[in-house]
Amino acid sequence: MRRKIAVFGGTFNPIHHGHLRLALDLVQQVSFDQMRLVPCHIPMHREDPSVASRRRARMVELAIAGSPTLTLDTCELERGSASYSVDTLAQLRAEQGGEASISLIMGLDAYLGLMRWHRWEELLQLGHLVVVDRPGYQMPKSGPLADFDREHGAATKVLEQASHGFVVHLDIRALDISATEIRTLTAQGLSTRYLLPEAVRHYIAERGLYGAGDPVDKTY
Ligand code: ATP
Repeated sequence: MRRKIAVFGGTFNPIHHGHLRLALDLVQQVSFDQMRLVPCHIPMHREDPSVASRRRARMVELAIAGSPTLTLDTCELERGSASYSVDTLAQLRAEQGGEASISLIMGLDAYLGLMRWHRWEELLQLGHLVVVDRPGYQMPKSGPLADFDREHGAATKVLEQASHGFVVHLDIRALDISATEIRTLTAQGLSTRYLLPEAVRHYIAERGLYGAGDPVDKTY
């Protein structure tokens, strides 16, 4: 059987239950052998995150502690340069060899901007793209992305059959949680409880990230 590896990249500023439940649902639905969470070091498609990459990586580590299926991959921090998914996929492909099925996971919001990504045309030569719906976002009916999607779209079983080259859309429950909302609530002194793991919430409070007051549990 072909080994199936998933790469789920993000700013994770901070990681939240939307990311975590999605990652777990994907592991269960697609039977990925590995699900690697890859915090970006310096994102190129958005403004510089307010929190350093090692802290965002630490929050991922805290969030997945004890999980048998999710792992932290710090390759983008170790590269130390601008973070491009194409480099991460190339590194993983070199490490895993040609047979492994490698999938880059992204929410639909991220996929909508795919054609602005660095060397995006090379992504399918290195792996598959697995796109998950996100509340509030819809695929365009026409245009270059719709054409690309029709040309490369395939059913889930292709992730077993091929090592790379296809786009798979998965209808997976997406929780309507965003890191932006968590940062905003924190800055306003409002509770973020139940939106993200407790260990991450405490890390944010202890270090005063996102303008957090201390202690976080006093009022809520
Ligand atoms: P921000 O609010 O700062 O933009 P975010 O919550 O979108 O952050 P990111 O770290 O930017 O989180 O997202 C990493 C990846 O996870 C992206 O591909 C994004 O589409 C996906 N994602 C994030 N939150 C969800 C969610 N609730 N449901 C589905 N996909 C999500």
